[in-house]
Amino acid sequence: MMSISKEIIDRIKFVINKSDESSDVYLHEPSFVGTNAYDYIRDCLDSGWVSSTGRWVSKFENLISEFTGSKYAIAVSNGTDALRLALHVIGVDKGNEVLIPPLSFVATANAVSHLGATPHFIDIESDSLGMCPLALEKRLDQVALIKEGEVFNKTTGNKISAVLPVHIFGLPSKIQEIRLICSKWRIPLIEDAAEALGSFIKTKAELIHCGCLGDIGTLSFNGNKIITTGGGGAILTNNKKIAELAKHLSTTAKVNHPWNFYHDKIAWNDRLPNINAALGASQIEHIREKLYRKRNLHKKYLDFFNDLKDVEIVKEFNQSLSNYWLVTMRLNVENPYELREKILKDSHESKIFIRPCWNLLNELPMYSKVPSGDLKEARNQSIRLLNLPSSPQLIDS
Ligand SMILES: *Cc1c(COP(=O)(O)O)cnc(C)c1O
Repeated sequence: MMSISKEIIDRIKFVINKSDESSDVYLHEPSFVGTNAYDYIRDCLDSGWVSSTGRWVSKFENLISEFTGSKYAIAVSNGTDALRLALHVIGVDKGNEVLIPPLSFVATANAVSHLGATPHFIDIESDSLGMCPLALEKRLDQVALIKEGEVFNKTTGNKISAVLPVHIFGLPSKIQEIRLICSKWRIPLIEDAAEALGSFIKTKAELIHCGCLGDIGTLSFNGNKIITTGGGGAILTNNKKIAELAKHLSTTAKVNHPWNFYHDKIAWNDRLPNINAALGASQIEHIREKLYRKRNLHKKYLDFFNDLKDVEIVKEFNQSLSNYWLVTMRLNVENPYELREKILKDSHESKIFIRPCWNLLNELPMYSKVPSGDLKEARNQSIRLLNLPSSPQLIDS
C-alpha cells in the first residue's frame, strides 16, 4: 500500500509538471493573467461606483445569461445567499423540509436552515456522485403524502417544499430524471450549481446549462470556484416572475423612485457590489479557455492513471459535460480509509495539497438528527474520493 501512495503522488507530479519541491500546489487557484481585470476595476475606482449599483452589475448579469442560456441572471453577494434567496422565492418557509444530498458543501444545508426549514437527506449514486433519482423516488413513495395539492412528510407532518440536488465538483447530476420525479409530485426543483459553471446536460436536441433545468438554479463565484468575483453568486431562472421577485428581495425591496425610501417587504441586502461584478466580467470573458484547459488536464490525469489498478479518475456521465472544476480520484480498494490517509499525508509532505471530499452533512452535529433516507452509497463513496490539483493554469492551452 505504501508504494501505491508514492506511485500516485509521482504520477500527479508528472501530470502537473511539478519538479520544484518548494512550490505549493493547491486544488484550484484563481488566475487573472491576460484578462481585463485591472481596467474594469480601475473604471469602478475612477468613477466612484464601487458598491451595490453600477453598470458592471448588469453587464456581468448579461454575460452570465449569455453564457448559460438562462433568460435571467441575478448577481448576489455569495453562493450561500443565492441559495437562501432562491429557496425563499420558490416558497420554502419555516418548518418545511427540503430534500438534499448528504454529499455537498455545508452551505447547501445551511441555506435551508437559514429560512427555518430542515434538510432531509436523499442518497447519492456512484456515477454522477449527485442525488440518486431512484433513491429520491423510493423515499417519496415511502414518506410523502399529498394533501390539498401540497406534499407532506407523513412521519414528521412537515411540508416538503423543494428538491435541491447539487452538481458536485462540476459533475452534472441526473437532473432530467430528478425533474420527472419533481413534476410527478409537483415539488419545485432548485439546482445548486455553485461548482458547475460551464457544465451541461446533453439532451437530444441541445446542451442545457446546469442550473437551467429546474425552476431556479444558483452559482458561486467564491475564490476557489471556476471563475471568481472575490466573493459572489448568482441566481439563474427562465421565469420572469421569480426573477423579478429575487431581484426585488435582493435589494431591500425598495420600490423604484428617484428619492423616496419606500420598501414593501422585509428583504435582504444581497446585491453583488459593482467592483466585484467588474472582476466577474473580466473572468467570464475567459471562461471558454479555462474550460478547454480543464478538460485537457482531466484527460491528462485519465491517461496517466489509466493503467493503475484500484485507482480511477471520475468521469462525467454519458449525457453530460462536466466543467471538471475539480478532478476527482476514486480509490477502488476494499478498505480505502487507510490508503486515503496515507496519500493525503504523503502529498502534503510534497506540498501538493490534495483534499478528501467533505464530511457527509448528516455526520455534522447540527444535521445528525434531521430526516433521512438510507445513505449507504454516500457513506461508501465519501471515504474513497480525493480531489486533485485542478487549476487550469497547470496545463498549457
Ligand atoms: C461554494 C459552494 C456554495 C456556496 O458558495 P459561497 O459563494 O462560498 O457562499 C454552495 N454550494 C456548493 C456546492 C458550493 O461548492
